[in-house]
Amino acid sequence: MVARVIPVECFDLVVFGATGDLARRKILPGLFRRWKEGQIPEGSAIVGAARSSFTRDDFRTLVQEALTEFLPETELDPAVVASFLDLLDYVTIDARGTAGWEDLAAKMRPDVVRAFYFSVAPALFGDLAQRLHERGIAHRQSRIVVEKPFGNDLTSARALNQILAEFFKEDQIYRIDHYLGKETVQNLMAVRFANILFEPLWNSQFVDHVQITVAETVGVGGRGEYYDKSGAMRDMVQNHMMQLLCLIAMEPPHCFEPDAMRDEKLKVIRALDPVTPAEIVRGQYKGKGGDDYLTECGDPASRTESFIALKLHVSNWRWKGTPFYLRTGKRLKSRASEIAVSFKEPPHSIFGESNQWRENVLVIRLQPDEGMDLRVMIKEPGPGGMRLKDVALDMSFAEALGSDLDIPDAYERLIMDVIRGNQTLFMRGDEVEAAWAWVDPVIAAWEKHGDQPEPYEPGSTGPEGALMLMHKDGRRWREIR
Ligand code: NAP
Repeated sequence: MVARVIPVECFDLVVFGATGDLARRKILPGLFRRWKEGQIPEGSAIVGAARSSFTRDDFRTLVQEALTEFLPETELDPAVVASFLDLLDYVTIDARGTAGWEDLAAKMRPDVVRAFYFSVAPALFGDLAQRLHERGIAHRQSRIVVEKPFGNDLTSARALNQILAEFFKEDQIYRIDHYLGKETVQNLMAVRFANILFEPLWNSQFVDHVQITVAETVGVGGRGEYYDKSGAMRDMVQNHMMQLLCLIAMEPPHCFEPDAMRDEKLKVIRALDPVTPAEIVRGQYKGKGGDDYLTECGDPASRTESFIALKLHVSNWRWKGTPFYLRTGKRLKSRASEIAVSFKEPPHSIFGESNQWRENVLVIRLQPDEGMDLRVMIKEPGPGGMRLKDVALDMSFAEALGSDLDIPDAYERLIMDVIRGNQTLFMRGDEVEAAWAWVDPVIAAWEKHGDQPEPYEPGSTGPEGALMLMHKDGRRWREIR
């Protein structure tokens, strides 16, 4: 099966921070892939902007090198690369300066979609928004895309929302959380809301618990100093994991429209109980040499967590009594992200004691090998009597939909949604603020007590305390494979 490609409208897209890591690794290769697939119409223009004083040709060379570095050679047909490079232009601009803006304004065309991607440090978002507005470069139909982190706490997120709101309306602001652009995450919505099968069981009467895991093998590496100011709670839980939790726990929206979806997600965040210290485990990887968090972050007294596990409660009729366990960390055993919905035991077993029951689990795999599997009990084949066995009804998207299927990277899909003007997979300002309002007191509590994260071995599944968090409830984490 080949993915259907519906071209977007012709556009002018300005990428601020076009020489940076994110632009080189994700945004520009993503745009190239959409061009290659025919989704970007002829006549569209991509304008890079940064302080580096590049000519258009310098920028094209930089992009060509980025494509070679980050995409497989098989994707780089020279004629297609050359035609993509033709779409590119560049202006030298300092977000806080006065030069270059007229040059940029002159490149903007009427009658095409106009979008500005802020792939720069968040401290510059306000400067860019102000200049684009005051110099008339952005108009009422223009869109801005802002990267994470969106604030460091509620106060800074509010301040950022306020400054953007001075120059842009909420329907022009696209706050990216690239987890929402993942194919499986959207499939989660399809599975829940396009089938009758699961929804009747999707509540605390039938769901024992939910586990959400985002495990990384990499450490903080060269980003140690930066990471140390945030930690796993701010870097992963407040945004990505909170979004996944919302999609699992939300009520069915009345339609698949941006605000209908976002209203329901917001209700989930607002229904979260505060977590108690006994429901949180924080960890730091502690290895030898460079494999040690404290060495990598450069502060031997750091109390920042590179791992966190939490038990959450969503206080509403649907979920009262069903815990949600979240864990995420760096330098873990493998790179794996999944959501697992574990169902309760049948009320009565007719198969006797010798048949050990195993829970039905719906697993939604985000990476690697995006897909889903449903673990069900079946009869073990053969003449050995009625013996039961649990098996996975496995659906790897790549296998099920054919090896030709080209699953776009999250950034590719999200940028195309910006051009289409569809905000469904972007966070609204009040959602981000609600998430910080829940996170802030949790962080304040551990900071007040001077809690020290528990050490864990690099390459393990995290600290002992995380295992205990579930063991004391008579449950266990799914293995990180
Ligand atoms: P980066 O590698 O440091 O790149 C920053 C970019 O901003 C460069 O192009 C830089 O070019 C430009 N820049 C810096 N100061 C500027 C100014 N005053 N005016 C105009 N341009 C300026 O950062 P990055 O990793 O690409 O990250 C960009 C944004 O994406 C950040 O908000 C980051 O938090 C977010 N993000 C990044 C990643 C990632 O994987 N890298 C992932 C998620 C979110 P010049 O020096 O030439 O001006």
